Amino acid sequence: MVVDGAGGMLLPGFIDAHVHTPDQGTRDEGISALRQALQLGVTTMLCMGCRYPDFVAHLKALQQPDLADLRSAGIAASVEGSHPTQLFDYYPTLNGVEDVAPFVHTRVSEGSDYLKIVIEDSSVIGKSTPFLPPEVSAAVTAKAHSHGLLVVAHAQSRRFVAQAIESGVDGLAHQYVDQPLTPEFARFLKSAGVFVVMTLAVYHSHEGVELANDPRVRPHIDSRWMDILCSSVGGQEQFQEYGLAAVRPLRDAGVPILAGSDANNPGTTYGASLHHELDLLVRGGLTRTEALTAATAAPAKHFRLPDRGRIAPGLRADLILVEGDPTVDIDATKSIARVWRSGVAGRGAAPAAGGDVLIQRALDVGVSIPP
Ligand SMILES: [Zn+2]
Repeated sequence: MVVDGAGGMLLPGFIDAHVHTPDQGTRDEGISALRQALQLGVTTMLCMGCRYPDFVAHLKALQQPDLADLRSAGIAASVEGSHPTQLFDYYPTLNGVEDVAPFVHTRVSEGSDYLKIVIEDSSVIGKSTPFLPPEVSAAVTAKAHSHGLLVVAHAQSRRFVAQAIESGVDGLAHQYVDQPLTPEFARFLKSAGVFVVMTLAVYHSHEGVELANDPRVRPHIDSRWMDILCSSVGGQEQFQEYGLAAVRPLRDAGVPILAGSDANNPGTTYGASLHHELDLLVRGGLTRTEALTAATAAPAKHFRLPDRGRIAPGLRADLILVEGDPTVDIDATKSIARVWRSGVAGRGAAPAAGGDVLIQRALDVGVSIPP
């Protein structure tokens, strides 16, 4: 089958490098999240912490053409009373270094694709909670590395980012927002070799309602997520300012920047908020092409998914056809005409017998897709 994409642009499927699978852990919720993401061009979601590893394992195994592919950290490493344990009735925690080996072993046996550690005293939201001590964050990181797992840190204050770096993590799940990021600190992050998932979309949660009202996006949002998208975390002026202002120094220092929405926190939702993140990355100072890289090739590289994130022979044909040219106007990413997952149509056309699969074969033998 030949697809006429005249006037459009073919892009690799987007990778959202920071989401959370739904808290309630019902099958309907999980499928809704993965389907909505794919409809909106996000063909891979990287979950940065969930409550129910069994549920996530079930979602990962689905592998349907109309659902986004999923990877997950599973249960994040944290200490009793710290984020996110206060949100839930039960959440496994670490009391000391003696808990590290069994904690990591359990995550590995549950199928965690990488590990997330939470170093957070809640001071950025005006509270005070216990936080993971340095010796524990270092031990968790070392143990995870010994199992071959990548380690990503949640730290929203500069001092805890420094602790995460000292602990040897591979990446940051947020840009810190308790103070402005300086060029010196950006160079420190560069020398540490870490990547940063910006999560500007959740820091600008008050803008979620604009996505909800966009006629290109709205029809694809499941009604169950609409109220969350139209809500806001609130009181985040500092987060918005510092988050956005961090983009340029990080870019100038050469720190790998990854797009991540933090869906489904208030003001965000699956799939849609990745487009918000792209817009914010451009507002923060990335070129439009750099922003697209932050949502495709960069997360594929840094999360060790070498089969996706680019359009090249032999790679997964996770593809989006958009109307317009997002390298001229980043807003064009929302104008999605078609989405393919592994070469099979997930949006824009019903899978035909032998039809779109030809695209994957074409890529496999190095033939470019007709424009
Ligand atoms: Zn998060």
